[in-house]
Amino acid sequence: MFKRILIANRGEIALRIIRCCEEMGIETVIVYSTEDKNSLPVILATKSVCIGPADSKDSYLNQVIILEAAKLTKCDAIHPGYGFLSENADFAKKCEQSGIKFIGPSSKIISQMGDKQHARELMIKNGVNVVPGSKGIVKNYKDALSVAEIIGYPVLIKASAGGGGKGMRKAFSANEMKDAFNCAQKETINAFGNGDMYVEKLIINPKHIEFQILADNYGNIICLGERNCSIQRNNQKLLEETPSWQLPEELRKKMGEQAIIAAKACGYTNAGTVEFIVDKNNNFYFIEMNTRIQVEHPVTEMITGIDIIREQIRVAANLKLSVSNDDIKIQGHAIECRINAKTPGKVSFLHFPAGQDIRIESYLYNGCVISPIYDSMIAKIIVKGKTRLEAVRKMRRALKELVIEGIKTNTEYMFFLTYNRDFVNGNYDTSFYEKNNAEIMGLIKE
Ligand code: ADP
Repeated sequence: MFKRILIANRGEIALRIIRCCEEMGIETVIVYSTEDKNSLPVILATKSVCIGPADSKDSYLNQVIILEAAKLTKCDAIHPGYGFLSENADFAKKCEQSGIKFIGPSSKIISQMGDKQHARELMIKNGVNVVPGSKGIVKNYKDALSVAEIIGYPVLIKASAGGGGKGMRKAFSANEMKDAFNCAQKETINAFGNGDMYVEKLIINPKHIEFQILADNYGNIICLGERNCSIQRNNQKLLEETPSWQLPEELRKKMGEQAIIAAKACGYTNAGTVEFIVDKNNNFYFIEMNTRIQVEHPVTEMITGIDIIREQIRVAANLKLSVSNDDIKIQGHAIECRINAKTPGKVSFLHFPAGQDIRIESYLYNGCVISPIYDSMIAKIIVKGKTRLEAVRKMRRALKELVIEGIKTNTEYMFFLTYNRDFVNGNYDTSFYEKNNAEIMGLIKE
């Protein structure tokens, strides 16, 4: 087992990894930017190393300096968390070359699955359902037009290197294609320095359902069930739950099997997520595989009792998974709400909810300062109930109790969301936000 792990991240996920390492008897080294010098991960890690100024490109994305810090502090492994360098194949390769274990799949798998168009082709070859679309890259909008003629409108133009909802544009007719293509391509070149585009049929108001996979280096591969992440704003998730309400058992089984096939197709190891969209008629399609830990992983942990970060570290250390498919018992229902800061500033007063089956993942403390520079997510509230209704009620109670003063947050929004009829019925898809936003906003008194 590793003696010391460097954490190349910040915020709640850095803390989550530090806590897991502490429980496993592993020392931690946190790297941080000057902006984060007073952060909870810096306080709680065994050691901390300042790696640069606030701007991520000079700190959390600076591969050379992070590797140097790992060598200087004699770390045997690096956990990248999510975002930043977590899906950067080049960084994973540099780690491999320096003999420092990157906690995640190999650089080869990251680059294979990170190229979404390539991943699509691999899935087609292995019999996994994908959204009808282009074969390979479309060079320009005229090629995109020809594909759209065949598959029919509406279509979604997507960036092969895309992520976080960037580099994606809808087109409902041929007239909209040129602008949609150029906008999506410009955005992806700016964000990822890569302009490879492909075309998919736009599935109208699908559900986003993803499957959590764990795989070790001994051919053991398990599926920890699914998460419904359809409540999204600008393609970014706001609330996630598991199991997915009213997902027919037969469909869940088929999707889970395809998720395993997808992971096997690329020789996957470590933790990964296979994402699907499901249409109104319960047709489901692979959209991408995330080769890292995800923000919403705790809901899966709540209902399976499995510590996914611990398994990630074990697999990276070449140990077997500590559980098999037969050990997995899904119990109850879990929901996660993402709490985002709407303004930066100092948290003047903080109170977190507590009680049975409530879990908080957050880097906040009384008096801490929220930087405007990084991601706005400041806390995750996760609850579990025996039934979905129990979980919903517990979430309401937790959100009611949560107090974050000094900055503006979306807490009230999430509270009213848990009373929304479509949410309560579990009857929602990715159009939820657009349909219900005005109504929920109307309930907030400011
Ligand atoms: P990213 O990596 O940027 O998050 P994804 O491919 O995972 O991109 O898609 C993000 C979201 O966009 C999905 O959850 C879904 O809501 C929507 N989406 C993606 N592909 C399609 C599609 N073909 N039709 C309809 N919606 C889609």
